[in-house]
Parts: sequence; C-alpha cells; structure tokens
Amino acid sequence: MGEPTQAESCGICGGDGRLVNSFGSVAKCPSCHGSGRRSEDTGFHDVTKTKASHHQNSNQRGAPAAKPTWPTSLSGIALATEIRDTPGLGDDVKLRLTREIMEHEETHPACTQTFVKKMRKQFRPQPKG
Ligand SMILES: [Zn+2]
Repeated sequence: MGEPTQAESCGICGGDGRLVNSFGSVAKCPSCHGSGRRSEDTGFHDVTKTKASHHQNSNQRGAPAAKPTWPTSLSGIALATEIRDTPGLGDDVKLRLTREIMEHEETHPACTQTFVKKMRKQFRPQPKG
C-alpha cells in the first residue's frame, strides 16, 4: 500500500482538540476546531504563543509603591493637618512644609517642640509683641 492515510494530529493541540491555558480554562482548539486532526488549510497561526496576552487583572496592585506623602508620627500628623487646614496657604507651601515634617521624622521618632514651633512660624506668622 502507499502512505498511511490517517490524518495527522493537530500540531496546535496535539490531537486533543482542546487547549488548556495557564489558568485552567479549556478552549476549543482554533486550528482543528476540536477535531484533533490537522486540517489542510491551517495557516499555522501560532495561537499557543498568544494565550496569555489578555490577562491583566490577576496581579494588579494599583500604583507602584508610592512615596509617603503624609507624616506618620502623631505630632507630625497633627502639624501637617494644621498646615493643611491653614487658609490662605499655597498648595506648594503646604507641600513643602509637609515634606519638611516627613524629613524631620526620618531622624526623629516624633516632631520636637522646637521643630513644631519653627514650622508654625512658617505657616502661621506670630504677631509680635
Ligand atoms: Zn487542534
């Protein structure tokens, strides 16, 4: 006789007729349409390589670790809140003063009285006399 006539297995699914992606979902093989046999007219789209292209939602944790934007010590938070609630203070000034508090916290467990006084002078001008 001649060549074996039985159809070869589909090269995409390996004769299974199905594809299991890395998340466990089963899809019908797009190449053989589930028959498991290699079809004549496959353009051989390498579908297996693109299986994970549209999975985006498993490991999203929002923004990457952001720099702290607010003090962590009680006195620092209190001071930053005072700054934030001071009317007439520009946003850039508030930002700068808040950052100063956080910088202070890097070397101190909390804001010292001296530091608080110094800061207050900057956003709350004391009347002289
Ligand atoms: Zn197949």
